[in-house]
Amino acid sequence: MSIHAHFSPDYATARQTFLSAAKNAGAELAHYQHPLKGIAGEDLFTDLAWIGPKDARAVLVTVSGTHGIEGYYGSGCQVGWLQDGHAAKLPANTAMLSIHGSNPYGFSWGRRVNEDNMDINRNFIDFATKAPPANPAYAEVHDWLVPQSWDAGIAANIQTKIADYYARVGARAATAAIVGGQHSHADGIFYGGTQACWSHRTIKAIAEKYLATAKRICVLDYHTGLGPFGYSEMICRHPVDSDSLNLARAWFGDAVTSPAMGQSDSPVIEGNLRMGIARFCSQATVVASAIEVGTLSSEEVRLSVIADNWLHLRGDVFSAQGKQIKAQIRAAFYPDNDEWRGLCYPRAVQIQQQALTGLAQA
Ligand SMILES: [Zn+2]
Repeated sequence: MSIHAHFSPDYATARQTFLSAAKNAGAELAHYQHPLKGIAGEDLFTDLAWIGPKDARAVLVTVSGTHGIEGYYGSGCQVGWLQDGHAAKLPANTAMLSIHGSNPYGFSWGRRVNEDNMDINRNFIDFATKAPPANPAYAEVHDWLVPQSWDAGIAANIQTKIADYYARVGARAATAAIVGGQHSHADGIFYGGTQACWSHRTIKAIAEKYLATAKRICVLDYHTGLGPFGYSEMICRHPVDSDSLNLARAWFGDAVTSPAMGQSDSPVIEGNLRMGIARFCSQATVVASAIEVGTLSSEEVRLSVIADNWLHLRGDVFSAQGKQIKAQIRAAFYPDNDEWRGLCYPRAVQIQQQALTGLAQA
């Protein structure tokens, strides 16, 4: 089978393809239904497939669709792993948990965020014990990032303002302000919320049910939209000098970057889903990483997010302009072509194999 056949054109197809591939691979399935409907009126679920012994000491967890629309890539990788027979070759005492569509609403509606306009990858904070991190610089840029109306002139004006802002405060501070996450403006971009969202609660329930007895866990969360076209960067948010970060480097080599050490274009972000799983599984040694695949330029990716935020706040998703913005954000997070998939799919397979080797050795 061509690798490109693993990738689906919409959420509903991706879900059905994942479920049938998992069933054919002998997986145990579970389904967590979301309260809302998708863009075509379909039911939404976070689905999971478990392969291997229930009491496995080591578990490889993969997660797709944390940033909704990035699920095209993650789903394709999960489906391919199942369809290409890799799932049948797990090491002894090792299981695999594939979580499909962790943010199914965003996946279906072609959004990076969820039903609450939340970036769920800024929401996995322990709100009971910790206030969300402050990002006062975001308040300075919010008004012009969230305009009243949208057209090509307004988009160009925003691009100019962003470029001026980068020149004024420097790239690192500007990126942290705009994309680092904020918990103060619910209608803004990269909003992380002030309480646990549906996906946060669902992933916690999954971790408590399926991962409570594992001693070693690797979490791979598939993302797109940052870095060079087709390159897979492994962004690790474990503390500098931690055992988990050292293990990640031992398993995955130089592809591993640490934002805390200034090695990534990604700013330091709190509230990641994968670090949430590490928190939920305190009995285990957890190595958690994003696989972040580059697509278009950061300017194009960011503008597509700003346009989509305007669309869902003030526009009509089903209008001609809405369809144009949907095509724009899709191109920014899922380059639907053979070259891009040919770069990132084999690499994802290799990373998963490295994770299984590492889990077996640890
Ligand atoms: Zn992402």
